[in-house]
Amino acid sequence: MCILIIADIKNNQINPATAELFTAANTIAKDIITTVYLLIPCNDVKITSNYRPDVKTIVIGMSIYNYNAQGLSKAIASIAHDIKAHYIIGLHTPFTIDFLPSISIEYNAHCITQVHTIQHDEHLTFVRGSCSGKLDQYIDIDNKPVVASIAPGSFDEYVADDTDNSINDTINEVTQITIAAAEKQLCTFITKENKDSSLDEADIIIGVGKGIGSKDNLTLIYNFAKIFPHSAVAGSRIVCDYGWLPYSKQVGITGKSIAPRVYIACAISGSSQHIAGIKGAKTIIAINKDNDAPIFNISHYGVVEDIFTFIPQFLEYVKRL
Ligand SMILES: Cc1cc2nc3c(=O)[nH]c(=O)nc-3n(C[C@H](O)[C@H](O)[C@H](O)COP(=O)(O)OP(=O)(O)OC[C@H]3O[C@@H](n4cnc5c(N)ncnc54)[C@H](O)[C@@H]3O)c2cc1C
Repeated sequence: MCILIIADIKNNQINPATAELFTAANTIAKDIITTVYLLIPCNDVKITSNYRPDVKTIVIGMSIYNYNAQGLSKAIASIAHDIKAHYIIGLHTPFTIDFLPSISIEYNAHCITQVHTIQHDEHLTFVRGSCSGKLDQYIDIDNKPVVASIAPGSFDEYVADDTDNSINDTINEVTQITIAAAEKQLCTFITKENKDSSLDEADIIIGVGKGIGSKDNLTLIYNFAKIFPHSAVAGSRIVCDYGWLPYSKQVGITGKSIAPRVYIACAISGSSQHIAGIKGAKTIIAINKDNDAPIFNISHYGVVEDIFTFIPQFLEYVKRL
């Protein structure tokens, strides 16, 4: 069996979350002897992550500045054909999702997007959310090849066994593949002004909802966030509609999908549109004064209390530690 992992590119370097795909690949392979290839879609990106030395690396001879989704998907399908890849996996990010589904057409493979869980017991099953995250679809895999995008944050980053010395910083096998000239050409990359990446990088995100009452009261939430390292503040759509936070901080189906280690929802009811954006969070904690608030249905821990009572007391407690 053979698995082709497509490295995700972010800010002209390999997105470190690509390491999560090695864990996904291990789950797919389980105990089956598997060759794993890492495909780097551009030849001028900075390589910042270290990967398993047994992985064969293929680099596409394309500059990120000449990015061409059409040529790229054809080239990757042709590589998949050569190496007889049975699974082609990438991250579900704007970069990778631009060309990944086309690979499934070129390669005549199933296409499964936004996978958040892979189960490999007797059968191999890919699980993805649907209906704005209200339902999960369980997709059993047959013999046809599969192209799948994996939601970032769904798998832990691959960690090498200390004893097998299996992480090093060299690329062991590089094949340069040049892709055909584009029929459609990318003109330029435009970086959105005020783009806020803190929600992508934060370990702990404090989400704030309408129950905060006013922009001035956000000080409480910022003080709460300050006690956690690598934290950021996000909001529900209402909070952004009111202008209390910018839209770059909105979490949900029409905002950002986040995957922090911990998400603390403060005075957020837990609408399906909001929940769709926090599915990737490893642990969800909700603080809400209404014990029937739907957010408690998907929370790992819940605090039924007024945030204006709980948070100051919690801060006071932490100060005394
Ligand atoms: C097409 C569409 C797309 C949408 N996209 C998004 C999206 O991307 N993201 C998003 O968030 N929403 C989205 N929404 C809006 C969504 O439907 C909800 O209206 C919104 O998420 C509710 O925000 P909220 O939880 O802050 O407010 P509310 O639903 O009003 O909930 C406030 C909660 O705070 C609690 N509360 C109040 N005061 C306190 C207090 N002092 N202490 C503790 N708890 C308190 C209340 O019990 C309540 O549960 C979308 C809606 C539509 C129709």
